[in-house]
Amino acid sequence: MGIIRPLDEATTTRIAAGEVIDRPASVVRELVDNALDAQATEIEVSIMDGGISSVEVSDNGIGMSREDVLLCYHNHTTSKISTFEDLEHLSTLGFRGEALASIASVAFLDVMSRPRESVCGTRIVVEYGELKDVQEIGMGYGTVVRVNQLFERLPARKKFLQSPMQEAKLVYRELLKKMIVFPECGFLYRSEGRERFRSPARRSTLERIVDLFGDITDELIPFEFAVNEGRVHGFLGRPTYLKPQKNFQFFAVNRRVVEWKLFSFVLSQVYGDLIPPQRHPLAFVFVEMDPSEVDVNVHPMKREVRFRREHDFQQALVHHLRQSLEKSLALGKSGFFFSSSPAAKEAFSVPFVHEKTETPILPDFLLTEDHPLPNPYEGESLPATETGLFSEENVEDVVSSYRFVGVLFATYLLFEKGEEIFIIDQHAAHERIRYEEIKAQYQTHSSSQELLHPVSLHLGREKTREVLMHKTELERLGFDVEEFGNDSVVLRAIPAYLSPSRAEEAFEVCLDALENHTQAHPSEMIEETLKQLACKTAIKAHDHISAREAYGLLERLSHTPNSSSCPHGRPTFLRLSKQDLEKLFKRTGF
Ligand code: ADP
Ligand code: MG
Repeated sequence: MGIIRPLDEATTTRIAAGEVIDRPASVVRELVDNALDAQATEIEVSIMDGGISSVEVSDNGIGMSREDVLLCYHNHTTSKISTFEDLEHLSTLGFRGEALASIASVAFLDVMSRPRESVCGTRIVVEYGELKDVQEIGMGYGTVVRVNQLFERLPARKKFLQSPMQEAKLVYRELLKKMIVFPECGFLYRSEGRERFRSPARRSTLERIVDLFGDITDELIPFEFAVNEGRVHGFLGRPTYLKPQKNFQFFAVNRRVVEWKLFSFVLSQVYGDLIPPQRHPLAFVFVEMDPSEVDVNVHPMKREVRFRREHDFQQALVHHLRQSLEKSLALGKSGFFFSSSPAAKEAFSVPFVHEKTETPILPDFLLTEDHPLPNPYEGESLPATETGLFSEENVEDVVSSYRFVGVLFATYLLFEKGEEIFIIDQHAAHERIRYEEIKAQYQTHSSSQELLHPVSLHLGREKTREVLMHKTELERLGFDVEEFGNDSVVLRAIPAYLSPSRAEEAFEVCLDALENHTQAHPSEMIEETLKQLACKTAIKAHDHISAREAYGLLERLSHTPNSSSCPHGRPTFLRLSKQDLEKLFKRTGF
């Protein structure tokens, strides 16, 4: 007795219809899904010509009886659901009973299968949907599915395929998604007759990630938390380990790697200003939730899902992920030029290059628990001055464990502390300080200050029009500005956190920033403006800094969140240990 049944019409009509197979990668996706649904622990995938000539997937799963092999390639025949309501507690990847049928209708299909308890297996040969041969065969248990000459008889569809190399890349990407979410299954991948990748069954996702991407353990921040709908776990990349593309971002729900339209948005909210634009962090975010909370029946290729309570879920996700990120940065990983892994240490060679990462790993050293800094201003808000930087009282009680050594190239502040040295980029550091202050004041709706002498600005017609266009945003920022006639405006109040002596300049910075981001989302527009304001009101490279001011900067940086990078994502400081120096000078062994 087989287990595959045809779905009734009421069910099939409610299942998202559409093209299932458009290229070799979708053949691979469907066949591997079937192998995983059959509880395979070893899966082998081989392709030729990028999968256009052939795809073969073999597994050691539960196999199919003769009856089932004879039914499996028919449309809407499945062993996974019987009614539409079964989707509420679906635990398999497949459920439509369409994949093998779709493949059979566009290629030559060969299925061989043997359940473990049977002495022999069954083989069917199907050509463009027509059964050509059935045989009893001797084989190991499990299933082998071969798909030859995809779209051979459908030149119009074949035309849309890319070069074999491109198709092979897409196949590998598809496989990658499966390998990440099924670490307990071993995979072997061959292309053009050569073994390209092998990963045995692993005990954890992290082990699989290391197999796939190399030892990036140090660059990953593990997380796990509960949300209303279920459990979320995985890894976020450190904000200093970035990629030019989003290829290293994976989002999975109940072990389906899907393209959730809000995922990028979630990540941008989580990383915010910790990373520069156009650079992307690594992210492996896995959600396990009750199947009734998520709709998998959205996309015929199973690419998308929809959440029942999407908005709440998305907000919870941002909140928890951001918390995990901040917590891990605050704990501060030691080691700057040297990652803590022995492999990275070996990789190190003079001159200063961090071989493993494109950007250095930056610990939030000033926030580490083991280097607590005395805060003489606990509970008090720090005076925010744009000129002269630090008021006298700020410098009084300077962090005693740091010794200011001097300024390098009129730009970098050199400090010594215990067995380590720190090189701070004065502009980047001050920019972060200013940004966090300004942002905090903006968020708490700190009031504006009325100018004793309102400033009238002759801006010209174009600029005046811009001011009026952005009046709402300017007001939100704390500027009170009115039209004054003759293409002029009058500035009556400015945000409390700006110095009146630089009212005009600050106003123009904001206006420019708003103007340059009119296409952006309002909150992004404001954020960009705040960043510009921070940048323009921070000290610059080559501005002269006294020792007192250097200590003041250090002190303020120590109370600043996200202190390891500036709002544009550049590092604010570098750290080097005495031991690192000794190694560089070859005073000690390696
Ligand atoms: P679905 O996966 O949606 O059920 P498919 O067309 O992919 O539809 O497969 C049809 C049926 O064939 C499955 O429900 C399953 O019972 C059987 N099947 C397909 N591939 C395998 C496999 N590798 N091992 C065991 N059974 C399989
Ligand atoms: Mg399937």
